[in-house]
Amino acid sequence: MEFLPLFHNLRGSQVLVVGGGEIALRKSRLIAEAGAVIRVVAPEIEPQLRELVERSGGHLILRGYNVSDLDGCVLIIAATDDEPLNAQVSQDAKQRCVPVNVVDAPALCSVIFPAIVDRSPLVIAVSSGGDAPVLARLIRAKLETWIPSTYGQLAGLAARFRSQVKNLFPDVTQRRAFWEEVFQGPIADRQLAGQGAEAERLLIAKIAGDAPHAPGEVYLVGAGPGDPDLLTFRALRLMQQADVVLYDRLVAPAILDLCRRDAERIYVGKRRADHAVPQDEINKQLVDLAKQGKRVLRLKGGDPFIFGRGGEEIEELAAHGIPFQVVPGITAASGCAAYAGIPLTHRDHAQSVRFITGHLKNGTSDLPWSDLVAPAQTLVFYMGLIGLPIICEQLIKHGRSADTPAALIQQGTTSSQRVFTGTLADLPRMVAEHEVHAPTLVIVGEVVKLREKLAWFEGAQATV
Ligand code: SAH
Repeated sequence: MEFLPLFHNLRGSQVLVVGGGEIALRKSRLIAEAGAVIRVVAPEIEPQLRELVERSGGHLILRGYNVSDLDGCVLIIAATDDEPLNAQVSQDAKQRCVPVNVVDAPALCSVIFPAIVDRSPLVIAVSSGGDAPVLARLIRAKLETWIPSTYGQLAGLAARFRSQVKNLFPDVTQRRAFWEEVFQGPIADRQLAGQGAEAERLLIAKIAGDAPHAPGEVYLVGAGPGDPDLLTFRALRLMQQADVVLYDRLVAPAILDLCRRDAERIYVGKRRADHAVPQDEINKQLVDLAKQGKRVLRLKGGDPFIFGRGGEEIEELAAHGIPFQVVPGITAASGCAAYAGIPLTHRDHAQSVRFITGHLKNGTSDLPWSDLVAPAQTLVFYMGLIGLPIICEQLIKHGRSADTPAALIQQGTTSSQRVFTGTLADLPRMVAEHEVHAPTLVIVGEVVKLREKLAWFEGAQATV
């Protein structure tokens, strides 16, 4: 190990920064966050840095560096573009046994700045020992996405009860087991879901030894339209911790693969005979699994609250007092439109957009056709393939022009995406001609024309 990682308490201590430019400013911001009193020496100091120094309670020395500037400082940072000067500062600091950092010159440093993930009080530092700082930053970016921003609050919760728990369990093994349960169970779940008060209530109950048998929890998660890259950080995190996954046809295998390897997987989509598991049965299954104490992931295509029956499922959970959380996903309209190069609204063409179910219950009667033909409005039909001839016929009959541009987007956002564009009158013919099948989204409106200029993503067999 070239450098030993240590965390330095700088609060109230003097730190010397040699240099008054952009790089000095960047380093100063960091040490200011750690509560240091900053002393800057440079012939010129840029205004933002001046302000920062003043706020830290430190002072500005407007002249060239002098070795006496080091007096009383616990850390020295050389951030000038004058290499010999940087080397001099390094040498002076080392002679006095004061830690020194020279920006971009690891050989001159006794201490180096890591890439930092700040979830205070939890802080993660990543270092490549100065050899590959870009790599360290990339790892940091991965950690940033992986560690929820609320993690600091979880550490804060633990801090508030630390001594109480220590008194309760003088034995370190017992204490460790207690905290492991806290950090991996419903208490952490609540805190990370932003429900701090509830997390605290559960922790107090656990400390008092009267924690009720905790039921599991259900995560109703939107898996987006297909491309796994479109998952949210939270979706991915919950996918990795769930014990059991209930999924249906719309969830792409590549997404399912991101779930915890040993999680039980239950398919609740259409079976061979083309009958979906009845909704009641799914609702009941969610309740039963959660009552067994499991963390249950209900994974749905797109967004769970847009034509996803997510509402019905959690109503049942709420009725049984089972904790749940809902994670939005990118709905098919957003995903398909983006990947087809069709902005859903546009100042010149569409001031509003409607998401409509094309699943017609009573033939023609159950959609507000006269509303749907209002001008400057984009229509997006979900589940519209079967009803498409009726939809087109009714829209034209109620006054939308037969020439209105329209698009069919099959398996949008995936490598199998296919896009066909034409006019409203053409759509049914296009479906037959190109053997378009589900899942397909239908977009109707002037904005479809923009695809000619804006198409950027093409799947395996994309066509205009
Ligand atoms: N909750 C989902 C929608 C479920 S309804 C969401 O928010 O996206 C199912 C319909 O969504 C399909 O019939 C199809 O019209 C549309 N759909 C979902 N994923 C799609 C995809 N990748 N490409 C095209 N259409 C899609």
